[in-house]
Amino acid sequence: MKKKIIIIGGVAGGATAATRLRRLNEDAQIILFERDEYISFANCGLPYYIGGVIPDRDDLLVQTAKEMLVRFKLDIRVFSEVLSVDRNNRTVRVRDRVKNTEYDETYDVLILSPGAKPIKPALPGIDAAENLFTLRNIADTDAIKAFVTEKKPKTAVVAGGGFIGLEMAENLCRLGIKVTIVEKLPQVIRPLDFEMAQFLHRELNRHGVDLILGDGIAAFQDKGRTVCLESGRMLSCNMAVLAIGVSPENTLAKSASLALGPKGHILTNHHFQTLDAETGKTVEEIYAIGDAIAVTDLIDGSKTAIPLAWHANRQAHIVADRISGRAATYKGALGTSVVKVFDLTAAAAGNSEAQLKAKNIPYLAIHVHRANHATYYPGAADISFKLLFSPTDGKILGAQAVGRAGTEKRMDVLSTVMKLGGSVYDLPDLEFCYAPPYSSAKDPVNILGYVAVNALAGDYKFAQYYEIDDVVKKGGLLLDVRTEYEFSAGHIEGARNVPLNQIRRRIHELNLPKEMPIYVYCQVGVRAHTALMILKGMGFTNLYNLSGGYVTYKIAKYKPSDNAN
Ligand code: FAD
Repeated sequence: MKKKIIIIGGVAGGATAATRLRRLNEDAQIILFERDEYISFANCGLPYYIGGVIPDRDDLLVQTAKEMLVRFKLDIRVFSEVLSVDRNNRTVRVRDRVKNTEYDETYDVLILSPGAKPIKPALPGIDAAENLFTLRNIADTDAIKAFVTEKKPKTAVVAGGGFIGLEMAENLCRLGIKVTIVEKLPQVIRPLDFEMAQFLHRELNRHGVDLILGDGIAAFQDKGRTVCLESGRMLSCNMAVLAIGVSPENTLAKSASLALGPKGHILTNHHFQTLDAETGKTVEEIYAIGDAIAVTDLIDGSKTAIPLAWHANRQAHIVADRISGRAATYKGALGTSVVKVFDLTAAAAGNSEAQLKAKNIPYLAIHVHRANHATYYPGAADISFKLLFSPTDGKILGAQAVGRAGTEKRMDVLSTVMKLGGSVYDLPDLEFCYAPPYSSAKDPVNILGYVAVNALAGDYKFAQYYEIDDVVKKGGLLLDVRTEYEFSAGHIEGARNVPLNQIRRRIHELNLPKEMPIYVYCQVGVRAHTALMILKGMGFTNLYNLSGGYVTYKIAKYKPSDNAN
């Protein structure tokens, strides 16, 4: 029998499902409803068009409805909003936004890919704000572009330090606008832990972006020209962008009595078939994919939401395959992500330390700072890594990296290892392509593996930057094994300087009890490792390496500038 498949939403998930379905089913009737004008546009490119990095608006339109019709024989109906789903009669109610008419369309199979919408809380003055924008689609983009072109704003407040907030901040800066980011958390980019996000805070400040952290937007006044913060602080600005997160589009799922998670995401089984809200039974003929759904966290099997493009595309492929009778499975989500912040790249996969703590999952954490390629080849720059792994079997639980060229490549490798269920013991054995402009004979990811394996070997323990200020107070020894010159240029309060090359001789002189807690640090942890192995050989038993050394400690203590008016 010829199947009639209806897809709701025509961008990442919807358009991918439609084309894959057509390739596998030449005879199926496929109707795609999109409420707006455009299908298959590049949401991820929108901030860069606003900032002028992508000069041509047409480049955002990956596929037009006309092209899709010719190549894929799809019935694409734009300006067509699906208002509700009637599961009993297997129909959807559609509003034609051009003709202003409504009609029903039947389906055998329904795929929901309606995405997520920017959160816009009901704050005082928000509706009267004339200069306030959110960014989701081409219409939003056109509105922002027209505003910055015509009104030439000099100042902007960006509310939210997530991916879209930071991309908008950078692109508004490119237009010469003075930007202040207001973020309720004490840091930007939640998938990173605080000390890793601090690299981004410094980078944002370096490019003139002010950061107000740990404060939220409370109200708008003066038609949006004054932004009032929860702390009582007032910011005046010519424009504001609200990028404080997204919430799933679930109106249709509600209309069809489909099960929703605690934050409103559509719940599905592992084939992306939806579930009945009351009975929890599978609704065989209705699938849901993309930003609107809850997915399974690959690390611990919990439900989470990852509103990122890879997931929408992969889920669309899997659903199209299953509808077409092919086997396909989704392993679960790591939330692998990357963002450009001026000259830095920040990437992450899996769970952060903060998440692992909140979930009570035991972990070890290490930091490594390593050049992206051979240091004798011009242009080498450090990438800072954080790796989180199981203290029992070394399974990788999370990875974070901030640096310049090659940062995302390393994260993709780590994410691949994680997806394939690998552990830190696999990392030293990964074979990297190497020539001096690209890497070193020991790639930074190999080094991460060596350090993690050392941590599991138990010769000494790793201490974190947040544990170090109290060491001396608690009767421990904080030992800085860098050179005297490095020590005099800056060190951790209370530290005693014994350069690595003098350690054998001078430790004897100190006459320390063997069980005394000794915390050792150097610049990044390499010399500290050697010093610790010497101390272990001398019989000391209570040894710690400051993870990431002085570099991690120092960046964690960075004070973001918040000079906004
Ligand atoms: P969408 O692609 O949002 O498509 C949903 C479509 O459904 C919309 O066009 C909507 O109009 C339509 N729709 C909703 N309800 C109805 C209805 N009732 N009837 C008809 N049509 C309906 N992800 C990354 O991985 N990397 C990035 O760099 C990145 N950058 C981004 C930048 C921006 C500015 C934005 C907004 C998103 C970005 N994303 C990025 C996220 C990524 O775009 C989404 O994860 C992805 O598009 C989700 O696909 P989707 O199909 O679930 O929803």
